[in-house]
Amino acid sequence: MNYWQEVEIIVNYEAQEAVSEILMNQGAKGVAIEGDIIMQQALADRLGDYFPHLTGSEQVAIKACFSKYKTERELQHLLKSVQDLDKFGLNVGRVKLNWKIVCDKEWADVWKDHYHPINIGKVVVQPSWEILPPQDNKVYVTIDPGMAFGTGTHPSTFMCIEALQQMDLADKVVWDIGTGSGILAITAAKLGAKQIEAVDIDPVAVKVCSLNAELNQVNLKPKQGSIDQINGTADVIIVNIIADVIIELLPQICSKLPPKGLLFVSGIINQRAEEVRQEAYQLGLRQEWENRQGEWVFYCFSQGEVSDD
Ligand code: SAH
Repeated sequence: MNYWQEVEIIVNYEAQEAVSEILMNQGAKGVAIEGDIIMQQALADRLGDYFPHLTGSEQVAIKACFSKYKTERELQHLLKSVQDLDKFGLNVGRVKLNWKIVCDKEWADVWKDHYHPINIGKVVVQPSWEILPPQDNKVYVTIDPGMAFGTGTHPSTFMCIEALQQMDLADKVVWDIGTGSGILAITAAKLGAKQIEAVDIDPVAVKVCSLNAELNQVNLKPKQGSIDQINGTADVIIVNIIADVIIELLPQICSKLPPKGLLFVSGIINQRAEEVRQEAYQLGLRQEWENRQGEWVFYCFSQGEVSDD
């Protein structure tokens, strides 16, 4: 059994990304964020119902694990770096740092207990540590999400994988904007796409996506950045990012989508769906179909009419 040093930093929600980055730069093997401390405590105390307004607010606990233990001095330095984020205009709040030694099972594998193979039509998305014996007529996509988003369990990803199966991808060029773990680009390749391209603004996602492409023996070299990093045009562009980013990228997407090209957008919450649809219409896109799961909305738009041939 391996032992790790788990360092917990309690900080205001708005600083969570910056703190995660500091921890990763300090050599953390993984970072996990536990939302809303006050709410968690209230729930633990069975007082959750009395705090309906606190969800999503204020302090979060960011936990990182290190295989090489940090000394007391290094920890103090870490605490100071977090407090110094204030100087960059981030309101870190009252920062607290705790640490303890934990064993493997407590840290590395706990979340893995919740990620099992999932069936999405004929596609099976399986975690890299739980490979299934292959069956005919199934398409297997093996994913180690690491620190990136995209296991297939989120409705927004699920609906994109469903949509990819509704078309014949042979001879098609598919772009995955905001690839995360690479799950959608890899699925497109496994479903027969001729060429796939993937980009993500997050360097960690680019790394994870590369590893997953290798794992699946798919020819994919993801790039760091956004849609402007890809040249040419695409038959299908998939964007599973939040509504604000989709709206921002729509003009560029339109310019890269030839007549009959398709755009899949996902990751849109119900309340923003109509706004995204209107923006797409303004740019001359047509809605082909939509799908909904819980509070999440998926649209397929086309550039001009899609022929039936
Ligand atoms: N495609 C995966 C991951 C979606 S999460 C899936 O469907 O499960 C959204 C990803 O988009 C994140 O990895 C985030 O880093 C990336 N992202 C956010 N804004 C972006 C932008 N403007 N351009 C490219 N990628 C972006």
